[in-house]
Parts: sequence; C-alpha cells; structure tokens
Amino acid sequence: MKRHYPTEFLDQLQQQANLVEIISSYTQVEKMGKNYLAQCPFHDDHTPSLQINPETNTFYCHACAAGSKNHSEVKACNAIGFIQHIEKIPFPEAVEKLALIVGLSLPNLSPQQQAELERRSEWLELMSKVGETFHHNLKNNQNSLQYLGNRGITHLDIDIWKLGYCGDETHQNFANLRNRIVFPLFDYNGDIVSFTGRVPFSTILLKQLNEKAKEKNQKTQPKYKDTHGVNKGDHLFGMHIAKEYIRQSRIAIIVEGWTDVISLHRHGAKNAVSTMGVALTQNQINLLKRAGAKQVILMRDGDAAGILATERDHKLLLDHDIKCFIYPLENGMDPDNLCLSFGYYNENLLKQIYRFMQPIEQYKIAKIYKETQDDILYHYGIINQTQEDRLEKVLDVLITINDPVELDIYIRQLSNLLLISYDAIKDKIRYRREKESQQQAKSINPAFTPA
Ligand SMILES: [Zn+2]
Repeated sequence: MKRHYPTEFLDQLQQQANLVEIISSYTQVEKMGKNYLAQCPFHDDHTPSLQINPETNTFYCHACAAGSKNHSEVKACNAIGFIQHIEKIPFPEAVEKLALIVGLSLPNLSPQQQAELERRSEWLELMSKVGETFHHNLKNNQNSLQYLGNRGITHLDIDIWKLGYCGDETHQNFANLRNRIVFPLFDYNGDIVSFTGRVPFSTILLKQLNEKAKEKNQKTQPKYKDTHGVNKGDHLFGMHIAKEYIRQSRIAIIVEGWTDVISLHRHGAKNAVSTMGVALTQNQINLLKRAGAKQVILMRDGDAAGILATERDHKLLLDHDIKCFIYPLENGMDPDNLCLSFGYYNENLLKQIYRFMQPIEQYKIAKIYKETQDDILYHYGIINQTQEDRLEKVLDVLITINDPVELDIYIRQLSNLLLISYDAIKDKIRYRREKESQQQAKSINPAFTPA
C-alpha cells in the first residue's frame, strides 16, 4: 500500500522546513533584497533564475517556470516538491527525507488511518479527473458558454476557476449535476473536493420552467445542487487563490456567492472568499487564520437575513481576535453590481472597498442612532426613556471593544453625538464590565458572591 500522511503533518513539515537552506545544499544561493536567487537545477541555468521567497517558503524559476503549474513536472513550489523532483523520488519518500532534515518524527498511523488517507487521496484523484472532463465539456457547450458570458464571466475566469459542464455522466457521484454548469470547490491547497451544479437558465426562465413543472405535477429544479459527502462549512470558496493575497494584506473579504468571488477577483480584489451561503463556521475561521488574516470585511446583502448573519459572524470573529469590518452595499446591490463600475484587474475596486469599509462597531452605532433619532426629535415626552434605551444599545457594542485607544475615540465621538458626558459613558461601561465579570465568576463557581 502507498504511504499517506495527514495534511496537518505535511503543513507542519512545510512550515518548519527552511527552503533557503535546503536549496543551498544543492545549488549556489545568493541573497537579493528580501528574496534569494539560485542557479535553477531544473534547467540549464547560466544566470540565477530560481527565486526563493523566505516569507512564503516557496520557489519559482523565472526561466523554466519550475514551481508553477506551467512547468511540465515541477509544479509544486514548496520544500517537499523541491526534494521530490531534485532527488527524483516519489512523494512519500520526499516527505520522509524532509522530516529527517527538519527533525520531525513521522506520525504513527493505524491501518484504519492509513486506509482513510488512501480513500481521501483516491477521492481527490477522481475529483481532479472528473473536473478536467467537466471543464472540457463546457468549452464545447455553446449554450452554457453564452449563459456565463451574459453573466459577465470571461473565458479567463472559466480557466482560472476550472468551471465545467456535466453532461450525461453516468458516475453515481455526479448524477445530481447532470445538465448543469459546474463550479468546482477547491480546498485550501487547491485540490478539487466537490462540485456545485447550477442550471444554465436565468432566474426568470427557471421560475417559469418550475411553474410549468408544478402544473404537470413534475419535479421542480433547484438552482444549485451539490455532490454529496463534503461539508461546505469546512471550506471557503476561492481560498486556494485568495490565501496569497490575504497573507500580503492581512485582510480577507467575505461574500456569500460563488460568482461574487469570481467577479471580485476579476476586478482586482483577489483576497475575496465565499462562505457559499452558509454562516461562517469555526473551521472556516481556522482557514482565515491559517492564511494570516487579521481583518475581515463582510460584504453582505443589506436585507434582514444579511444583517443577522453579519451579527453572528461578528460574534465568532471577536473570539478569535479578528477585526471585523463591513462594506455597506447600497440597497438591492450585490458585490457583482459593485464590480461593474470598475475595470478588470486593477487596484481601484480594492481602494474603494478599503476607503469605505466601516468597523462593525461604528456601523452598528450609526444604525442605532438612525433608528432612534426620530423619537429623540419628535417625541419629546419620552426623550429620557429613549435616550436611556439608546445608550444601553450602544453600550452593548462598546463593551466588545478591547483596545483602550479605540474605545476612547468612540466614547469621545459618542459623547458629542448623543449629548452625554464622556465620564458618564465611561462609568456606564465600567459598571457593565464589572457586572459581566461577576456573572462569569458566578457561572464558573456558583457559590461565588461578590464582596
Ligand atoms: Zn529553471
């Protein structure tokens, strides 16, 4: 049986490997600014063409494209890939060799665990093969190409995101996708783990077809269908591309739809990922952290469901010390619409997003202010009650802010806005925090009574 290693182990190995040192033991390496340059061992190199980036621990040859998918063999850009190809050994042996260099002991796996990993690697192989077939199908399917074209999806998008079309494929795993345009879901490493199929009709046409089907008592068609067996909550669509851009900027943009991600990337916001319609999960947050995200911009529909989801995501992100922003979309707009006013592959869209994003606390306070302002202005008889209610709501937001400077700025602004003294707001926050920590102590130790 082929030996397999868990992803977590491989990640740890890659992180601990010093790629500059490893490549130095095979060829001459020189420091050039932030990066290193080496004589490429994968082609007959006379000028050093192999660039090593110590920050990402990756390599790339500017002459023969080793370390990218454009090279015929050396597609991986990491330490395991380098060793595998320079030593001309199979993948598991390269892993073992690197583990020896790094000084990590190999994980001791039970036969069941080995079998599980074997199954996973077979699944990925199948997905990759089927993905190629779907992709090829789409290129010969004029109707679907036209449908995608009408929605602004370019030929380059189709190649970047490996979009496909499932014809009458007989494989049982893909029966769900029959006659649908197919979006592959890639995992963090860029392997296809599942597909989502969408009928190639406009929403209006789909509705008409479904009404006709209902009249005839036939089954109606949902817009999207998935392959079975993969939990969407474990992945973020677009992450395999976005992770590099998130690492550079420390910022991730989160949208709901698949095509939103494709549009945002096309218009230059390549740090965008999608939760694919589900609420942000713990595992998805782990992926964001793995890519080094410190800030997240939520870009959601401004409807009630969107606001609720934003609220939920904010709570979860707070626990992980990731700063949460929102980009307020105008009523009825989605990220796709927003992209339309910007060119392809330039910086203007991102500039606009960074300029107009709001810390979620600010957004929430502005909302509370707007909702209560009518009562303050026109119902003078209840002004005290309104003022108090409003302050309590604002306090709910303020106590989530841990940074003292940030909090100070908010209190100063609010003092002016709400016409309440700085000290009064500050006292209220202190009082709330004390009450909360007492409650926490109580829940840990029910016998606890404050002195
Ligand atoms: Zn080369």
